Amino acid sequence: METKIKIVDKNQIDENIINEAGNLLKEGRLVAFPTETVYGLGADALQEDAAERIYEAKGRPADNPLIVHIADYEDLRTIAVNIPAETDMLAAHFWPGPLTMIFEKSGIVPYGTTGGLDTVAVRMPENPVAQALIRAAGGFVSAPSANASGRPSPTSARHVLEDLGGRIDMVLDGGDVDIGLESTILDITVIPPMILRPGAVTAEMLEEVIGPVSMDETLMSADGEQPPKAPGMKYRHYAPNAKLVIVEGDLREEILAIRQLAYAADRKGHPVGIIATSETLPFYKYGVVKNVGTRENEKTIARGLYRVLREFDEENIDIIYSESFAAQGIGEAIMNRLEKAAGHLHISAAEIVKLQKYRRVTFVSGTDSARGPMAAELLRNCDLVQEYVINSRGMVVLFPEPANQKAEAIMKSAQMTLEDHSSHQFDEENIQEDTLILTIDESQKEKILSEYGDSGNVFTINEFVGDNTEIPDPYGKPLTAYGECFEVLNRLITKLAVKLNSLTEEEK
Ligand code: AMP
Ligand code: MG
Repeated sequence: METKIKIVDKNQIDENIINEAGNLLKEGRLVAFPTETVYGLGADALQEDAAERIYEAKGRPADNPLIVHIADYEDLRTIAVNIPAETDMLAAHFWPGPLTMIFEKSGIVPYGTTGGLDTVAVRMPENPVAQALIRAAGGFVSAPSANASGRPSPTSARHVLEDLGGRIDMVLDGGDVDIGLESTILDITVIPPMILRPGAVTAEMLEEVIGPVSMDETLMSADGEQPPKAPGMKYRHYAPNAKLVIVEGDLREEILAIRQLAYAADRKGHPVGIIATSETLPFYKYGVVKNVGTRENEKTIARGLYRVLREFDEENIDIIYSESFAAQGIGEAIMNRLEKAAGHLHISAAEIVKLQKYRRVTFVSGTDSARGPMAAELLRNCDLVQEYVINSRGMVVLFPEPANQKAEAIMKSAQMTLEDHSSHQFDEENIQEDTLILTIDESQKEKILSEYGDSGNVFTINEFVGDNTEIPDPYGKPLTAYGECFEVLNRLITKLAVKLNSLTEEEK
């Protein structure tokens, strides 16, 4: 089947296109259309066959009921009976808009549409294209999200075509959606009313209008023993092909942990993705980093989430690490979708960060004037996944002195400098547990061990990186000797950076 694509402008609706689409729906065909939440796959809600076509096109399990969309409030009475008293208030506040309510269904609604249930889910969308289409189709359009079942919901017409191109009759392309997450589902047949799926209409917003509401507890929990009350929520949903892991902690720890995890995956050759925000984007160096939105306005994150998940699939990413968001307001809906997409896979950021044994690296030489400061400066110029305080000390420093001039000349020729260096005596303060102490040769190591004892964090550089190339002593020799020393140090420190970056991996 050829899928017709029609561009529609919600500010200037083309009646001809809407009538053509409405007629298709009346004939029992399928038309995808924009709503303010996500793109919907529309079918006439009162025709059993049309519902069947939806299930077939989406590959959707038949016990997953559809939401019926209306454009005029009085139409609710045609499809719902025993309508609770709060409905008027809720509709006055939130319709048209991203709120779906569950009612007892009337006889006119086929079981094909409700997945065999005696209840019907109803929403009145705000998007003018959606409203016009619903009216043109006769008033009752069932419309699940217009994605292949299980994939992230579509937030643009392009996403619809990716999943359903050739399987449906028409797509109305009204540009990118506004909200980006599916509607809030509220069951008002129970007391107190219960949120079956969080969305842009939050619990706080509902409570202001009707008092206490409850939340289906199964929504956020990982144990699959109790099925969620909205039948569709039990299925794997919103999921990218890649494995998605939510990294949880305070934001600083999340960043450090994700940096470490991304580095590790990258080194193993796994294409790795990161879900980051405008605020955190600059902190990541490894992996494919995507900006989902800004933390200053969580609505942007809701809007960007499904797009980002789809993009990772296009780029064949194997594993995605996501920062987490506060589960309040719209954040509740964001975390709910993220949790489902991740299959409740979590990592504690603190646990990852804890694996980082060393916070400081101190290089120790004889006089802290050439090789030690060179090693420290070389390491500062490496790409390190974690943050370290890096410095150098000498075993015999009588008073502070600037770096050796030949050492400085060699560093300058490699676009580095020891300009700010001033030599320091090694002392007790440098022997802390979180400090990796690396000596230029055995003599300094032995002296430290005999004076302070061995707490397992003192090594020669050679020993620590597993490379026996001797670090030559250029003192009193011509500039070329400093150059040769630099070459050796450069190689060893590059190895050291790789080793530091992978330390947490090895200890896992
Ligand atoms: P979708 O339109 O793809 O976002 O899916 C519609 C969602 O509404 C599914 O999760 C359904 O389980 C839920 N839903 C539809 N009708 C009912 C109903 N009568 N009772 C409870 N949940 C419903
Ligand atoms: Mg859906």
